[in-house]
Order: sequence, then structure tokens, then C-alpha cells
Amino acid sequence: RKVAHPLNRETSKHLYEKAQDVIVGGVNSPSRSFKAVGGGAPVFMERGEGAHFYDVDGNRYIDYLAAYGPLIHGHGNKHIADAITQAAQSGVLYGTPTKLEIDFATMLRDAIPSLEKVRFVNSGTEAVMTTIRVARAYTGRNKIMKFAGCYHGHSDLVLVAAGSGPSTLGIPDSAGIPQAIANDMITIPFNDLTAFEDALKKWGAETAAILVEPIVGNFGIVRPDPGFLEGVNELAHRYGALVIYDEVITAFRFHYGGAQDLLGVKPDMTALGKIIGGGLPIGAYGGRIDIMEKVAPLGPAYQAGTMAGNPASIAAGIACIQELQHEGTYERLDNYGAQLEAALLQAAARHGHTVTLNRVGGAFALYFLDHEVRNYDDAQAADGEKFARFFHLLLDEGVLLAPSKYEAWFVSTAHTQADIDFTIDVINRVFAQL
Ligand code: PMP
Repeated sequence: RKVAHPLNRETSKHLYEKAQDVIVGGVNSPSRSFKAVGGGAPVFMERGEGAHFYDVDGNRYIDYLAAYGPLIHGHGNKHIADAITQAAQSGVLYGTPTKLEIDFATMLRDAIPSLEKVRFVNSGTEAVMTTIRVARAYTGRNKIMKFAGCYHGHSDLVLVAAGSGPSTLGIPDSAGIPQAIANDMITIPFNDLTAFEDALKKWGAETAAILVEPIVGNFGIVRPDPGFLEGVNELAHRYGALVIYDEVITAFRFHYGGAQDLLGVKPDMTALGKIIGGGLPIGAYGGRIDIMEKVAPLGPAYQAGTMAGNPASIAAGIACIQELQHEGTYERLDNYGAQLEAALLQAAARHGHTVTLNRVGGAFALYFLDHEVRNYDDAQAADGEKFARFFHLLLDEGVLLAPSKYEAWFVSTAHTQADIDFTIDVINRVFAQL
């Protein structure tokens, strides 16, 4: 069978025209545009059901985007939907504390023991931004270090060498960020302890913290080399800097708990988001008690939020995490990930395409590249034009990925063996055409 006729997406095209009239660029987050895959109208979705999406023209897609990560149970999971409905009926916002917040904070701490105290916020951006403020308050230092290509949200300081969204759009630094702020960010290559130590020799005494994605999720999927995270902890602490893990993508992704628990390493503070909200807006940060007690009302570091800890997000988060407690959940995600990995590697080899595939459990990235990917420079070298053709061929056969060579595929608990088989068929046909 030949690759299918491109799906008819006339209504999406029409809506894209209309959207551009009232919404900047027609999208509410730049990574949703198709700019990095040759342009054109993004697909306008109308309905999600399990691992499937239906667009406004009635086409069906198998979803590996998972809304950039949160939807580990796919669309419309009944347990999560019931929790949201119940929350909606009893009032979605009180502006007072609730018991539900205690229940959820306790669940998170049980799963990720380094979260000795927690605070809920509304997004990953807020969570990371606040860990930086608290680290500065705790250490009395200003500089922050991060790894090149890692995205930590869009607050001013971290939007330097920030990976997936900005780099696919060719905006390494955003306009509107004062140089004085950017000067406090030091960027080093991932998996390079020598570079980290060199930076600490220069700026260690002024450095409040190093921001780390323990498994990188923003230039594909990149594991830390053995000993790398242990080395980061040891060096940072030697210079009196804190270690902050950004687990916005990684927490509950590969394992029930953080990547830190999977890898047996412990940060001083952790930022969370995405999966822990079950699809509703959420973020959280937490860590060592002596650090977290710097936060208002106990301490001098201010952070607040009208919507923070709202009952709907918390209820959805609890339901989502409960659904991850079922026996065999992560084994199934890993099994589907392994099947897709094998199919991609075999199809690529059969049709003469050199690729690198990095996978951890149900999350993986395919790079059109002839060497391994251990850092951002490696990932940047991947062939973006070939990725764009691959992306569109998959899309035209009803398999939806994020429109960027830097984003991962996410398998969800809603995917079935039939979805995986369908996807493997599509992969085989697409590589034949690529
Ligand atoms: N940190 C990481 C590692 C992320 O991947 C993201 C979002 N892609 C963020 C922070 C920001 O989260 P949010 O989009 O919820 O603000």
C-alpha cells in the first residue's frame, strides 16, 4: 500500500486563517505552530478519546504528543474526568486551604521523598522560577547555572540557551530580557563535569544553584552518563551551591516517583508540573525543610497565587497519580516504547536512513543523525528537514507527533496494542517514502 492520500484538513486551514486574525501567530504557545516543520496550518483538534484525537475535519490521529507531556493517561480518562466533574460541582476555587491539598502533597512526598515540604503553583514555569528565587534567598547568591538546550519555562532568567521551543524557532535568547538578568545565567554542556567544574572555579562563590533535568526531555530524551548526576551534586555542594531538579517532564514519566528516585540521586529542591495536574494547569516545588522554610509566610522569599492549589487541578492530579499506581503501568509503557523503538530502527535501517534513538520507558526521541546524542550540540546536528518530511508523512497517515525535531514521543496508558500495531504499519510505509 502506498502512503495514504494526505488527509483533508481544509477546516484546520480555514480556522488557522481566522485564528491568526485574533491570536498572535494563531497559537497560544509557539511550539504549537508548524514553523519548525516547514510552516502551514497546525491541526485544529476537536475531541480526544483515549490515545486518539479527532480534528475539526473528522480525521483521526494516534496521539504521541500527549499535550507535551501531561496526558500520560490519554484523553478523557474516566477517573480523572470524574474527579474534575466532582470538583466543578463543589466549587472550583475557594481561596482557602483545603484537605485535598494535604492529601496531594502527602502523595507526592511519599513518591518523591526529597520533597520534604511542598508548595503548589500553576505551571512548570512558575515552579522553576520560584525555586530560583528561594535558592537565591537561601544562599544569598545571585548566579544560576543550567545546561545548554534545557528548557525550564519562560521566566526571564532561564530563557537563555533554552532548548526545544526557542531553539526550533531560532530564538536562543528572547527579546525583552535585560542583559543584566541574562548575565546571571551560566550555561554549560550536559554530561560534561569538567565544564561544570571549570564554571564553578570561576563563579562558584557567586552561584546559588544549578538547574538540572535529571533526564533531559527538551532536546529529545537524553540520559545522564553514569556518575554525572552524582558528580553534579558533589561539585555543586563543594562550592556551596544548591542542586535544583526540574522534573516537570520527568516526574512520574518513567517510574512512580521522580527520575531522582529511579536514578538514586537526591537534589536540594525539585520543580514539578505536567503529569501531576492530570491535564489541568499545575506546578509544584519542594525540597529540604531548611530551604523551603525561607518561603513566605515562614520566611522572606515571597511567592503567592490566586489559583495555586485550586481544587480542580488538585483533584485531577490526585486522580492521575492514583491511576499510575496500577500494577504493571510502567511495564506496559516500556513495552510499547520498546516495540516502537524496534520498529523505527528496523524501518530506518531497511530504507537506508541513519538514525539515533534515545528511549527511557514510554518516552523516546528519534534523531536523523549518525552519532549518539549526549548533549544539545549533538541534538542540534540532527537533520531538521528530514524530520519535517517524516513528521508530515506520519501526520498524513494519522500519527501525531510534536512538530519539532527536539520533542519526544510520549506513549500513554491509553495506547493499546492495536494502536502500536497501527503505528508500526505507518512507520514502515513512511520510511519507504522518506
Ligand atoms: N521545565 C521543563 C523541563 C519543561 O519541559 C517545561 C515545559 N515544556 C517547563 C519547565 C515549563 O512548564 P510550563 O509550560 O507548565 O510552564
